[in-house]
This record gives sequence, C-alpha cells and structure tokens, in this order.
Amino acid sequence: MSDYSIKLTETLAVLERIASAFSPAVLASSLAAEDMVLTDMIFNEDLPIDIFTLDTGRLHVETLEMIARINKNYGASIDVYRPTDENVTRYIVQHGLNGFYESVESRQECCRIRKVEPLGRALSGKKAWLTGQRRAQAASRAELDIEEFDAAHGMPKFNPLANWSEDDVWNYIRSNKVPYNPLHDRGYPSIGCDPCTRAIRPGEDVRAGRWWWEGTNTKECGLHMIIGTDGKPQLVRSSAEANVSEANTSAKRAGRTESAVPKGRAKRALSE
Ligand code: SF4
Repeated sequence: MSDYSIKLTETLAVLERIASAFSPAVLASSLAAEDMVLTDMIFNEDLPIDIFTLDTGRLHVETLEMIARINKNYGASIDVYRPTDENVTRYIVQHGLNGFYESVESRQECCRIRKVEPLGRALSGKKAWLTGQRRAQAASRAELDIEEFDAAHGMPKFNPLANWSEDDVWNYIRSNKVPYNPLHDRGYPSIGCDPCTRAIRPGEDVRAGRWWWEGTNTKECGLHMIIGTDGKPQLVRSSAEANVSEANTSAKRAGRTESAVPKGRAKRALSE
C-alpha cells in the first residue's frame, strides 16, 4: 500500500468518525484545492457533514464561481455566510474600502468583520468543525494536528489533511476529476480575498502571496487564532491529550457515555 493510499484510507476514517461521533459537524471551505478534496469525499461518501463557505464580499470571481460549480458537479449545495452590512459599512467609513493595506491592525479588523464574525455564526450549534489546512502550507502550520480543540469556539476542530503533501492533494484532484479553482493554475496555491492575494514566484512559500505586504508572522486571517491572555492573537493550538480530554468532556456534556475519541485514535493523533 502506498503512502498516499494509506493517507487516503486514514482520512476517510477520520471523516467517518467525525460524522458519527460529532454530528452536527461542518467543513469550513475556502473553495481552495484542499477543501475541494474534502468536499469530494463528503459528497461521494454521502457523509452527514455540512459544508459552508465565507463570501467576504472581496473574493475573486473565479472563487465565487466555484459555488455554482459545486452545485452542478455534485447536485448539492453548500451554505454561504456573509459579513453584516452594518459591520462592512462601519469599516469602510472608518478605514476606507481598502484600509487593510494601512496596518496589520486594520487588516485584522477587516478579516474579523468579513471572516471571523461570520465564522462564529456558521459554527453556532455545531459540535465540531473541519478545515483543509495542511502542515506543509506554512511555518505557522508546521505543528498542525489532525485533531485539535478550538478553545475560541468551544469545540473540536479537525484538519483531516494535516499530513497531506501538495502532490497528494493534486493526485486526488486529478485522479477523481474534482473541480478546482482555475487560479491554482495561475500561480495561486493559496487563495484568499482578491485584493489580499497575489500569485507567488518560483521558490516562494505557499502562502507568500497572502497579505504579501506584511511580515511572515502575521499571515493568518484570524479564523485559526484566539486572543491570548496578553491580548494578542495567537494560533489555536493545544496538545492532542488536551484535545482528547476536551472532546470526551464535550461528549459527556452531550450525553454520550462512550469515549468520543477511541484510545487507538488518540494514540495516532499523538503521533501525527
Ligand atoms: S483577506 Fe483582505 S479583504 Fe479579505 S477580509 Fe482579510 S483584510 Fe479584508
């Protein structure tokens, strides 16, 4: 069995476990390649995992068209969450339409109203959420676990493709004829909002095109961060043991008496 085949089998097992032990769970899709892999698995396996995307109001046309392409390809729709008109108007009045270029703080404020606040609404009432994050995407994601506990939203967070390589992702997409954002073929390995994403040059980090005018240690939009005790944003991260403990606590709160994370799985999570 090849390394890729093993990852494929393990990823499907993770998705099946999420569907059975953490329902209702939801995939937060940026409509990028990794999220399309998970979308394809969820729809093809008919897994009861919801999918949503955040339409920030500043996405590329090619990204927005992915919503209709998903509907057409799978005969199923995904949910779309948007920022409130009130928040957007207030931001534009205070900072200008493109005020995010002025400072890291104004950029993070824009991400907060256009991404983080709608994310909170999308996760409301869910027991777990999933992302397409991979360790190889950026230094800030190098220690990503397949399973974490998102303290900001009080629920388990799964990154089923954490150990996938970029080749694995494209191997899956090509062999399964998965629809993907054409921007990926134009030098955009990581796609965010139009004014905040550029194509990368050969040899650059996968996320070098995101907020390219900022330093490398701020390249997260806040979706995967919490406010620390020092008042500064920090990556949502906790040990796998803590994740297991929290997941089991959540399961007990929900009235499930069995362990939410079987022992064998817990061991694997620790070694991922
Ligand atoms: S990526 Fe840019 S346009 Fe999109 S929400 Fe963040 S700052 Fe605003």
